[in-house]
Amino acid sequence: PGEQLPHDPSKKTLVVLGSGWGATSLLNSMDTTDYNVIVISPKNYFLFTPLLPSVAVGTLSPRSILQPTRYVTRHKKRQVAVIEASATSVDPIAKTVKFEDTSEIQGLVSTTTVNYDYLVFAVGAEVQTFNIPGVKENACFMKELEDAEHMQRRFLDCLETAAFPGQTPDEISRLLHMVVVGGGPTGVEVSGELHDFLEEDLRSWYPELASNVRITLVEALPSVLPMFSKQLIDYTESTFKEAKIDILTKTMVKEIKEKSVVLQMPDKSVVEVPCGLVVWAAGNKLRKVTQDLMAKFPQAQTNRRGITVDDHLRMVGVPDKSIFAIGDCTATSYAPTAQVASQEGAYLARIIAQLAKRDELAARLKALQETPAVEETKQEIESVQKQITKAEKMRPFHYSHQGSLAYIGSDKAIADLPFFNGNLATGGVATYLFWRSAYLSTLFSPRNRVLVANDWIKVKLFGR
Ligand code: FAD
Ligand code: NAD
Repeated sequence: PGEQLPHDPSKKTLVVLGSGWGATSLLNSMDTTDYNVIVISPKNYFLFTPLLPSVAVGTLSPRSILQPTRYVTRHKKRQVAVIEASATSVDPIAKTVKFEDTSEIQGLVSTTTVNYDYLVFAVGAEVQTFNIPGVKENACFMKELEDAEHMQRRFLDCLETAAFPGQTPDEISRLLHMVVVGGGPTGVEVSGELHDFLEEDLRSWYPELASNVRITLVEALPSVLPMFSKQLIDYTESTFKEAKIDILTKTMVKEIKEKSVVLQMPDKSVVEVPCGLVVWAAGNKLRKVTQDLMAKFPQAQTNRRGITVDDHLRMVGVPDKSIFAIGDCTATSYAPTAQVASQEGAYLARIIAQLAKRDELAARLKALQETPAVEETKQEIESVQKQITKAEKMRPFHYSHQGSLAYIGSDKAIADLPFFNGNLATGGVATYLFWRSAYLSTLFSPRNRVLVANDWIKVKLFGR
């Protein structure tokens, strides 16, 4: 009953947790005939996160940037089971994963367990709130599809409420003040997209209100976008200045109330600033399921940023090396980005193909060793042993950085690109066109490329 799990006793079972950048890249690249493959994720789709802020302002429709996981798996040579559920715990000794249906509708069975031979842990991260009061209750996040939809609803509601007859000037000013917390790429992109929506559409829909809309970006560090070069930070800051987006650096959000944010200013004074909308883009933290798994290997897993992996992306400390971890749930020398997660997924597809070959050879060796030892058998045993040694030689993971890109609004983007052994830092409208084409080509499926291109054309012709 229920989803029939692939079960060929001659094959090992590979359980993949997650359907994000890492897991989807693995699924796209892997040969599913090698294993019984089971994918478990609370979202039955892949979300193209780089374009999420565009959904928040209605430039793109949510459907355009998601790809159902079954769209990938149904084209695979062998059946892959996709289960919409959250993994709640992993038992690395019994080699089982417990998972739970956390969706709105539940059946009679909503928790169960599956066995694995190899586990790919790719559950990403969740929003970091630092336990700052009021963040969960009063701010919008920018991580999941529903976050973007939530932000869009609240933003438009602020405008309509400000347009309500008889609203006082102070209340209008509060409702039209949008605060974005976090000057990393997410916060910068959200601010840029909000500005575009305002300039390109809202100015003509709400002519009497539009000039009162203010956008403030708050960042605790001395500058926004610390991962970009100084030149591009300056370019972003001057573009924001022209766009009348205020940047408050060295400023820390201490609390978020229903109608205001409490800020600690650079001189340590604390001020309460009224606002209508707060978008929280202050970074990531580990999920509970990741913390719990790490706690099972207290000697080896001590990095608070995430799972420590070896050169082949295997979780350090797991005695039989059966758990791989990729993407934002790991702590590596690379930034937690889609680029890294997808390269790790593609690399892992090659590693597990090699492991399947090794395991098949090991089974053959075992069978040969159990047969009476004639000369031919001895020779074959030697040959198989050599092949096993070869199959066990795995190349380490190597990340190839393709550059960093970010959209900053006003039809401008910035790019730090590796270029002839140096770095090319570029910003402007041409970079924006490059940003668009780069993202269009990175979208995994032709269906999504057509949908996104179509949305962009629609917005140019008819507005959002
Ligand atoms: P994710 O892609 O987050 O996938 C995690 C998966 O695990 C999800 O499918 C989730 O549903 C699933 N999951 C969660 N909990 C469980 C559980 N308990 N059990 C099973 N499954 C679970 N990076 C770039 O390189 N370039 C960009 O332009 C860029 N833009 C971004 C814009 C935004 C708004 C955001 C939020 C991020 C952006 N990033 C970008 C970062 C990038 O999205 C992440 O680094 C990337 O998603 C990491 O991939 P992942 O597979 O580790 O995690
Ligand atoms: P981030 O961690 O890069 O930035 C969060 C920022 O919030 C930090 O600069 C931090 O100082 C600030 N902050 C934290 N608490 C604060 C507080 N209380 N008050 C004020 N500021 C506070 O997070 P992100 O922007 O979501 O990015 C996460 C990852 O995803 C990064 O690796 C990033 O490179 C990647 N990403 C890349 C792109 C892109 O390449 N275009 C876009 C989005 C995300």
